[in-house]
Amino acid sequence: MLLDGKVVASEKMERLKSEIKGIIEKYGIEPELKLIQVGNDPASTIYANSKIKRGTKLGINVTLEKFDNITMDKLVDYIKDANANPRINGIMVESPLPPPLNFQEVVDNISFYKDTDGMTSFNQGNLYTKNEMIAPATARAVVDILEYYKIQPGNACIINRSAVVGRPLAMLLLNRDYTVTLCHSKTVDIKRIARENKVLVVAIGKPDYIDESYVTSESTVIDVGINYSGNKISGDVNFDSVSNKAKNITPVPGGVGIVTATDIFENFLNGMKYQIKEKLI
Ligand code: NAP
Repeated sequence: MLLDGKVVASEKMERLKSEIKGIIEKYGIEPELKLIQVGNDPASTIYANSKIKRGTKLGINVTLEKFDNITMDKLVDYIKDANANPRINGIMVESPLPPPLNFQEVVDNISFYKDTDGMTSFNQGNLYTKNEMIAPATARAVVDILEYYKIQPGNACIINRSAVVGRPLAMLLLNRDYTVTLCHSKTVDIKRIARENKVLVVAIGKPDYIDESYVTSESTVIDVGINYSGNKISGDVNFDSVSNKAKNITPVPGGVGIVTATDIFENFLNGMKYQIKEKLI
């Protein structure tokens, strides 16, 4: 079966739109998400623009603050002002940041309830205690796809151990009764491990790397990879070879990416609900 992310994303967009509309009407809030970009990384500009478009569809004012360059102290001051501004309900720092700025150090200055990206150490840590109010959107997107297509929890192998994908996803799956194995570049015999797990999540950043020798006819394969070659986008999984053998597979594009783009706003909404509950806005 093709696990189509577009269907998952469009259903979620409708729910988010209706919830956000309800909040706007009830509380008279004009929701705002503040994006912060430092430098001119082309991919990060594309992602920022796509958030602006998607936010507009949801009734959220997504504003972009661009700095050609900025010191750590000035950037932290900017973030602290945005934390204190009740008109701003979410803050996202676009990655990558130019050196010497350190992404994690910068992001950890965002108030946890405005951390739309779910990348603060505080929100990452919350996943350990099953508090998933805000979680990295890519990890949430993988779970959304598995749940939407009613894949039964079992054994899952994730090839990635980053803070964006593998680590938070391991927690979200563990919270749903999966037994999780995290693999990375130093793991020995990944093919065997991949075949022994019914769910295989791949996020290694190497186009078409995973072929049919990593799967069985029972495998559900979630391809998180996004690799650009000119105008073409491909995943980390060789779709033609793997889709002939595996039970279920996500396409690229049209799989995890589009759900991730939507799940950012799930985090935004959850953070805004918290701000309302705690009378912060
Ligand atoms: P990353 O920080 O570079 O992590 C890559 C991971 O893959 C690391 O854990 C690395 O192991 C592992 N790895 C690399 N080559 C490997 C190999 N040959 N065998 C086994 N493991 C290997 O990248 P990331 O930010 O997590 O992103 C990973 C991919 O996901 C990229 O293609 C990115 O574009 C994509 N992505 C997609 C979305 C989406 O919405 N779909 C969102 C975020 C990222 P080590 O830890 O040992 O180095």
